[in-house]
Amino acid sequence: MPTITLPDGTTRSFDNDTSPLEIASDISEGLAKCAVGARIDGILSDLSTPITKDAEVKIVTARKGEKESDCDALELIRHSCAHVMAEAIQRIRPEAQLVYGPALDTGFYYDISFDGCEPLSTEEFEAIEKEMATIIAEDRPFTRYELDIDEGMKKLQDEGSKYKIDNAQRAIENGSETLTWYATGEPRKAWEDLCKGPHVPSTGCIGAFKLQSIASSYWHGDADSDRLTRVYGVAFVHKKQLKQYLKMLEEAKKRDHRVLGKKLKLFHVDEQVGQGLLLWTPNGAVIRQELQNFISQELTKQQYSQVFTPHIGKLELYRTSGHYPYYQESQYPPLIDPDQLNKLASEGCTCGDLANMMKNGEIEGYLLKPMNCPHHIRIYASEQHSYRDLPVRLAEFGTVYRWEQSGEIGGMTRVRGFTQDDAHLFCTEEQVADELSSCLELVKIIFTTLGMEDYRVRVGIRDSDTEKYVGDPANWEKAEEACRNAADTLGVPWIEEKGEAAFYGPKIDFIVKDVLGRSWQLGTVQVDYNLPERFDLNYIGSDGNQHRPVMIHRAPFGSMERFIGVLIEHFAGAFPTWLAPEQVRVLAISEKSNEYAQTVLQTLRNRGVRVSVDTSDERIQAKIRSAAEMKVPWLLVVGPRDAKENNVSVRMRGIMEDLGAVGLQTFTDAIVEEIDSRGEVSTLKICFPDVDYAEDA
Ligand SMILES: [Zn+2]
Ligand SMILES: [Zn+2]
Repeated sequence: MPTITLPDGTTRSFDNDTSPLEIASDISEGLAKCAVGARIDGILSDLSTPITKDAEVKIVTARKGEKESDCDALELIRHSCAHVMAEAIQRIRPEAQLVYGPALDTGFYYDISFDGCEPLSTEEFEAIEKEMATIIAEDRPFTRYELDIDEGMKKLQDEGSKYKIDNAQRAIENGSETLTWYATGEPRKAWEDLCKGPHVPSTGCIGAFKLQSIASSYWHGDADSDRLTRVYGVAFVHKKQLKQYLKMLEEAKKRDHRVLGKKLKLFHVDEQVGQGLLLWTPNGAVIRQELQNFISQELTKQQYSQVFTPHIGKLELYRTSGHYPYYQESQYPPLIDPDQLNKLASEGCTCGDLANMMKNGEIEGYLLKPMNCPHHIRIYASEQHSYRDLPVRLAEFGTVYRWEQSGEIGGMTRVRGFTQDDAHLFCTEEQVADELSSCLELVKIIFTTLGMEDYRVRVGIRDSDTEKYVGDPANWEKAEEACRNAADTLGVPWIEEKGEAAFYGPKIDFIVKDVLGRSWQLGTVQVDYNLPERFDLNYIGSDGNQHRPVMIHRAPFGSMERFIGVLIEHFAGAFPTWLAPEQVRVLAISEKSNEYAQTVLQTLRNRGVRVSVDTSDERIQAKIRSAAEMKVPWLLVVGPRDAKENNVSVRMRGIMEDLGAVGLQTFTDAIVEEIDSRGEVSTLKICFPDVDYAEDA
């Protein structure tokens, strides 16, 4: 007699064993109709899964009219769609051997072996999609059946697929007592796949789908093993959602920071310099410098002290901090001084010996710094502090180096050297809460100024496995409470996540949504009890005794490289005037106006505006087009009449028509005001109060 507890806390009792489908029908016919699966005691399951004892059940539904679908429903649909795709591929290409086909955040894939036969090509997608549509239209049930291990393995041996045998063996090693298959129709007659499920009840529940691409992959991800073909697809509950998603992908492609970075000349990666080592070209450097100036001003307001530290530090420093040798695999190998190296070489020291000696601390070396914290700690420790000096807030745009696998690097978002807008605060236990609030306030100011106002905040606290966290549990309690309180003061929704804390303290992360709705984890604020301990930091309290300070690490942007990469895509390269590398371009209608164009240029330049003039022989329309290509926010077209009246004819990026003429002085004052206010004041509104346009870059 199972009693079922529903998500709203209500319960229902059943006389016999039941199933999610029966529970859904018991609630309402409407619910049963759109149910595609269930979570039974938290585990995603088939709608037909027998329930023999008391359980908490949440019915998973896929309703076509809803704007956003349940993630569980999407996962069921996507994995089921992978089955349908595999069946369709095997109908067309019977020689294809299936490996595995999981769901992804956005879709699904199936790894397939075409060993010894013609590889699959995207030209076959149309035929495969047609087959899939037929299978979906037939609305065949996903039917689960189980075999005991002996019988199941025998079946797989008879079928002769080494990949499925391998999958089964892994399942058994992981504790499976039976092997399960899902047939798309009648068991052992219809097409079937070894799979532990769950799936939607029938193929008809799969809404809209599309095959996307083919990539190569390896069995077990091992490059020395069999080469496989990975076929990617997407699936949604409703056609409209699929259409929206494909449109978003299209838009994302146009905004790709690697493409725009090249076109707008923002950065360069050079083979001779090294992979993942970004060169900031003049245009990109302007954006970075403007952002750094902006932060520096805010830091001054919040009484930070800015410091500079070198790019390397002794291995011993990182042994104390714990960064070496524990994080060796994500660091460039250490540097060793030439005399020592020569001496060791002459003694016949091998690479292996050298590595061991470094690890054991028998020889000294230097590390390209993987973090700025140890250097800042040594600045703090360079003098004796009293409670009156605290908090000490040290900030630096500090460049750090991490060794990323070459397959993982690309563009600005995965690099091997990057600059953090880093700071470390050293404070008393009592000051933690206030300092956290100001850190969050700073992050908020930054995101608001950049128009990235769609963000959420996550407070990461310990999970139940408290063994892995350092420090006094009582301090943790306080710090976690301080993080919650600080998050409360922000006035935006925040969530708490267990297990998201760092091992040395709780943290607060900002997850920003860009205009395409993609989420990026950017700013972070972390409380740390570990490093003050390791470095034996102290301050003299009002009682005259030594006390341990608490450290806060915080970086609003995270890394300048990654942040600007995100920013390029967010703005699609059309930066607000204060950030734009070229803020104004002056276009002379003809040679006759070149002289006046130079006057305009000089007037603006004298006020600090980044301006250039196009005096080429191109026709004015061509000049306008090329300025638009470079996403210059303001174009000033000047002709003989403008020269006579000391005017400029203004065009704004995104509005390609002429807004009209305005006095050169008026325009200059207005744009300077816009730049100084970082966009709070609008040049457009000052010069053309009657024009009502929204920028559409
Ligand atoms: Zn499956
Ligand atoms: Zn740090």
